[in-house]
Amino acid sequence: MTALPKPLHKSSKLANVCYDIRGPVLQKARQMEDEGQHIIKLNIGNVAAFGFHPPDEIVQDMIRNMPDLVTAGYTDSKGLFAPRRAVVHYTQQQGIAGVTVDDVYLGNGVSELIVFALNALLEPGDEVLIPMPDYPLYTAAVGLSGGTPVHYLCDEGADWMPALDDLRSKITPRTKAMVVINPNNPTGAVYSKAMLLELIEIARQHQLVVMVDEIYDKVLYDDAVHVPMASLADDVLFLTFNGLSKNYRACGYRSGWMVVSGQKAHARDYIEGLNMLCSMRLCANTPGQLAIQTALGGYQSIKDLVAPFGRLTRQRNLAYDMLTQIPGVSVVKPKGALYMFPRLDPKIYPVSNDQELAFELLSQEKVLIVQGTGFNWKDPDHFRMVFLPGSDDLAEALQRLERFLFGYRKR
Ligand code: PLP
Repeated sequence: MTALPKPLHKSSKLANVCYDIRGPVLQKARQMEDEGQHIIKLNIGNVAAFGFHPPDEIVQDMIRNMPDLVTAGYTDSKGLFAPRRAVVHYTQQQGIAGVTVDDVYLGNGVSELIVFALNALLEPGDEVLIPMPDYPLYTAAVGLSGGTPVHYLCDEGADWMPALDDLRSKITPRTKAMVVINPNNPTGAVYSKAMLLELIEIARQHQLVVMVDEIYDKVLYDDAVHVPMASLADDVLFLTFNGLSKNYRACGYRSGWMVVSGQKAHARDYIEGLNMLCSMRLCANTPGQLAIQTALGGYQSIKDLVAPFGRLTRQRNLAYDMLTQIPGVSVVKPKGALYMFPRLDPKIYPVSNDQELAFELLSQEKVLIVQGTGFNWKDPDHFRMVFLPGSDDLAEALQRLERFLFGYRKR
């Protein structure tokens, strides 16, 4: 008789790794969908699911490239030359100095490159400053790399700008890097040049690597202007992340890039580590790489959608207007990206477990949001929603939210 197999446990490396955007509430929603229920999803920035498709030119070029791709092999582990050259041109337009093709890494989405960047950098116990609320991949990837995520506060009262005193107070001799997400997920904040210069000064003083995620740099509303952070200094090491998922509505292409710029001379060994991790996964998917040069060479980004009467702007306005009419709900109007991070006044909604709140909203009203603590927010008094569904669905979801919250107040 063979012995019963020993239970397999996940590695202790995953003990502090958590990714609630795709966590238990989503599992429950999937189960409800399997049972035939229709859920309005405000949980994830998957633009394709809401009828936002990649520009035709990118799709057509992809189709034209396909016959060659049938016989294509692996590429250089940093990626093909032409799309990397296109990224260099993009950095030139952005005013980022001194970038060569060698400084550009293509990845299966930015997500992969973020994990490489942190894995190559961190020793056990090294600390990384991450905005709070965060995009949880950073916190998870720091943990997976053996490092310690340290969250610095972004101040809702100041349109979610980083609270610099809080950030400074969290720097220790173990701090290795600072993460900046601009435009921000989940708050929709867009940082001013003055704010970016302050952050750079802190990085300079403490010799921190700056990891700046600019994946929403074209998703801007009203008069917002995006300033590429790495264009503001050449004496700090920057890793800038960007890709096709949001600006070009092509998240399924899994195509992103990382640009190393600024003070590189002292970082040769780290860069060797980055190269090694890229080599270990051989290369990023080739169709996704090829789409980059078409995207960056053309005019077909997300511009029309974020113009004053563009679809995304209208939906943002609708969501903002409806949310702010609900008693006890407030929200900073996003200047960029695809998300809002509304607050539930604890005096009116005494929420002790915001995941429970998300579960209840899902069960009662079939609306899916993500609880704020899923973004490592400190209190259970926020949630994140996208404003991607069309106006009818969005209005319906927010009416249901209002009804749910009305019931919550009456408890
Ligand atoms: N960075 C931020 C701030 C994001 O919001 C997302 C996706 O929502 C990503 C990175 C992931 O990008 P990619 O699809 O290129 O992996």
